[in-house]
Amino acid sequence: MLFLSVFPIILNRKEKYGLASLIFLSMMGLSAFVNGIVFGIQVGFGFYFFNFAGLIIYTNWKSIYKLFALLIDVSLLLLLTIYFISNEPLYVLSNTQFYAFLVLNIVLNITGIAHSAYFYMNNAKSANDRLSYLSTTDLLTGLMNRSAFIESFMQFCQNQDQNIGLIMFDIDFFKTINDTYGHLCGDEVLSKIGALLKDKLSDKSLIGRYGGEEFILAFNSNSLEDVQVLAEEIRELIQMTDFNYENQLIKTSISIGAIFYPLDVNHGIDIDRLLAQADQHLYVSKQNGRNRVSVSVFKLE
Ligand code: GH3
Ligand code: MG
Ligand code: MG
Repeated sequence: MLFLSVFPIILNRKEKYGLASLIFLSMMGLSAFVNGIVFGIQVGFGFYFFNFAGLIIYTNWKSIYKLFALLIDVSLLLLLTIYFISNEPLYVLSNTQFYAFLVLNIVLNITGIAHSAYFYMNNAKSANDRLSYLSTTDLLTGLMNRSAFIESFMQFCQNQDQNIGLIMFDIDFFKTINDTYGHLCGDEVLSKIGALLKDKLSDKSLIGRYGGEEFILAFNSNSLEDVQVLAEEIRELIQMTDFNYENQLIKTSISIGAIFYPLDVNHGIDIDRLLAQADQHLYVSKQNGRNRVSVSVFKLE
């Protein structure tokens, strides 16, 4: 039986879960049934059928097959029970053998149930992690998406004892890149910009893709000048970068709107107003000819 269990294990590895479950359950069911007839159901073979019911419910079979398998499971248990109401086991165990078997079967069942619980919990956890990754990450750049950025930024503001800098930028004439070299080339540029930002900023900074070709950054900052210097560095970095797509060299630039947010007004931060002011600066940069920075201290108004 141990030798035969290799088959469901191999099938499981090949991701043929349904067939693996069928073979495993049939083998174990048959074994529990035959052993039950030979040694007696009270030796613990009845427990296996309860265990199988749990396994059947969690297989990836269609509901109708599950129902059918559950019927077989319950029928085998009933048959065994009825058989032992009127028959002695074929082999009567000594008292010591009886208890040894009973304990072994109980331990094996508990181990089986515990392992299944662990397996399904692990599966649920990784599915949950994946879901949370997908709902917070921009898959093209690997950066936070807009809503994840705003949520992280709210926490970031609460945990700060330093002033905050916020940079928002938009790629200039990005539509022309798409129109000239194709959408995939545009995607490549966005993805490369994401990588450049991750390289440039410290791990403590927040980086997000705010919209189509707009990015947003938040970081600790000492002064308005610091924000301006960093914004200029990022603008220059993008301007100097050679973007490559299918052996074609592409150049681009960005327009930046930035805000320095001093700590003394940091109580009850109005994030919407902060974002709106950065956006206004971005608009000013676009209006003044693009490829430039517009920055100010946050205005309480
Ligand atoms: P401006 O300098 O005024 O910002 O001009 P622009 O061409 O960059 O701005 P516009 O709003 O006219 O065009 C933005 C383009 O960005 C249009 C849209 O198709 C493209 N875009 C948005 N998201 C993506 C994306 O994920 N991939 C690609 N390749 N293009 C995108
Ligand atoms: Mg643009
Ligand atoms: Mg835009």
